[in-house]
Amino acid sequence: MGRGAEGLVLVINSGSSSIKYQLLDPESSVVAAYGTVERIGEDDGAIEHHAHGETTVRCRPIADHTTGLRLVFDMFSATGRDLVREDVRAVGHRVVHGGEVFYRPTLIDDSVVDAISELSALAPLHNPANVAGIESARELLPGVPQVAVFDTAFFHSLPDAAKTYAIDAELAAAHGIRKYGFHGTSHEYVSGRAAALLGRDPAELNQIVFHLGNGASASAIRGGRPIDTSMGLTPLEGLVMGTRPGDLDPGIVPHLARSARLDIDQIDALLNRDSGIKGLSGVNDFRELQRLIDGGDRTARLAYDVYIHRLRRYLGAYLVELGGVDAITFTAGVGENSPQVRADALANLARFGIEVDQTANTANDRGARHISPPEAPVAVLVVPTNEELAIARAAHRVVAETT
Ligand code: AMP
Repeated sequence: MGRGAEGLVLVINSGSSSIKYQLLDPESSVVAAYGTVERIGEDDGAIEHHAHGETTVRCRPIADHTTGLRLVFDMFSATGRDLVREDVRAVGHRVVHGGEVFYRPTLIDDSVVDAISELSALAPLHNPANVAGIESARELLPGVPQVAVFDTAFFHSLPDAAKTYAIDAELAAAHGIRKYGFHGTSHEYVSGRAAALLGRDPAELNQIVFHLGNGASASAIRGGRPIDTSMGLTPLEGLVMGTRPGDLDPGIVPHLARSARLDIDQIDALLNRDSGIKGLSGVNDFRELQRLIDGGDRTARLAYDVYIHRLRRYLGAYLVELGGVDAITFTAGVGENSPQVRADALANLARFGIEVDQTANTANDRGARHISPPEAPVAVLVVPTNEELAIARAAHRVVAETT
């Protein structure tokens, strides 16, 4: 038997029509290979595989997730690694919704798969795809332990006042309606890295984390535990995102149904796919938005202003909830790469001890770093997120504890 992958963890992030994967060493964080399967279920499916510094692309129809994952295994074989015969230590699956049931990384068996399926009512776009990825991986690697790592887990213990919606309590209880929060793996990882960067014990720190990617969320963290987060029952609530509006007057939903005669699925699609930056400006990629603004496009400018306005609203709320903050950290695609967003989000807050150093903020540096002046009372940081590494480490830990 080959031993090439011994100790490595395969991380699978399975979306409705895609699979992202990474094979990595959870201890050294070295990535052996990674890639993406796209457009599963369509005629123009494709896989892009990166290993040994080379990229291999194959285009073909990919009927379903099992076919997609089989193709991933073929790509590994073609680049010198037989995942089936080698000793992969564990498979870690990103699972979006753990509901009230799952609040820590969990070794997968049949009952866990059933429970994740049952939570599909709370995450109809995500959990069925996660289950498809899990079932495919269990079929292809039957002897390898599989671990589910939940996007909601970090926020499971939010204080009651933060997680409760002010609606009929019985109805809420009957339908699992509470704030769950998402991007938890990222918020947990990034806040831990921020504390390490500051050389401080997370237990001593009040932190605010802004995860600003295509999806975006904020969290307030005291002593390593979240006390609030911007996403809610679903990933629609909170900050303005690429295609989602974040906070809305709930009265907009019945108003759209009555006045625009949209049915509930049309409203769901509008809110998930055609709102946010895209709804306001026509584009959802922040780099394109920036280009439109630079060209004088006023709707793009408004989209940007709404985005920043919402960020600052959450910043203010979390400053007060925490009673002061030690560190504010930006992460994910926009948070890591847009000095403009970071500067605008924190502009004119010196009286609260919050300042951004322009040189540090605009430096061409991709690592975890300070962007506040050294003497500023509040540390402002950029910390690249790494959900795959966090999932690999969690899966490795669960397997070490249970075998
Ligand atoms: P993520 O979901 O974390 O992959 O982030 C995706 C978002 O990051 C997209 O809206 C991208 O436009 C944005 N992004 C990526 N690179 C940059 C960049 N250099 N400047 C601004 N935004 C970026």
